[in-house]
Amino acid sequence: MSLRARDLQFYYGARKILENISLTADEGELIGVVGPNGSGKTTLLKILDGLLKPKIGSVYLDGKSIQEMSIKEIARNIAMVPQDASADVEFTAFEMVIMGRTPHLGKLSLETVEDEAKVKRWMEVTETLHLAERKMSEISGGEKQRVIIARALAQEPRVLLLDEPTANLDLCYQLQIMDLLKRLTRELGLIVICAIHDLNLASRYCDRIILLNEGVIAAVGKPIEVITAENLRKVFKVDAKITHDPETNSLNIIPIKSLKEREAESRKMICILARGEGSK
Ligand code: ADP
Repeated sequence: MSLRARDLQFYYGARKILENISLTADEGELIGVVGPNGSGKTTLLKILDGLLKPKIGSVYLDGKSIQEMSIKEIARNIAMVPQDASADVEFTAFEMVIMGRTPHLGKLSLETVEDEAKVKRWMEVTETLHLAERKMSEISGGEKQRVIIARALAQEPRVLLLDEPTANLDLCYQLQIMDLLKRLTRELGLIVICAIHDLNLASRYCDRIILLNEGVIAAVGKPIEVITAENLRKVFKVDAKITHDPETNSLNIIPIKSLKEREAESRKMICILARGEGSK
């Protein structure tokens, strides 16, 4: 199974947002999409999910363009965990997750015992079964995020897309979510693509990273190839120190200074020097 995007170009109105985006994701891969705010991460995920239609290019699942698939067919193959999942609702966690079965329901739209068993299974995998009867509005952010992931998994997709799944979560929940995503790729062979801000987490967990800059792919490859001081300077406009942690076999990224700050310092220095010279 593979997901491919070829030469995607996307506009919001007259503004070009994405250009020349081609990517390939194979079974069992965990791919991180990183880049500054506004670089096009969410837009790319929405195109991969068929929610937005590119002006040029297409997305292919096992060679078939998703533009030729019905919404239901896409939903049986690709599931999305959006950034702003409005989860502050009065539904219970179980009711929330069973909604994920919708693309698989028959004409009468009634869930069967089998659907319920599947929901329980995904709640077990995401460690949310104990929350089944709790209202979504009454559980913590990390628990909510796991329930929303369970709902996406209840669609039984082959591709799982997540938009900033660890945003606003404490350290423990961040690791839990990333560990879960890794297990889904390793044990079930899912393709997982997630937009992620935390470069440390991305480099630790992702097999490959796509670095977006102003709507184009600035770099793609293994974390060690993409998260380099040069790329961070070019794309994020920061000087960063990058070391390798042998214990976790991951990168440790410490942003040192923004280039704006550095420029301001040099301007200040030039002024001081100029004043010094002027007073001689
Ligand atoms: P990211 O996820 O990397 O922060 P987005 O994909 O959300 O980036 O946004 C990319 C660009 O598209 C930004 O300049 C943003 O302002 C613009 N944009 C996002 N959504 C819309 C929209 N619905 N209408 C118009 N412009 C949008």
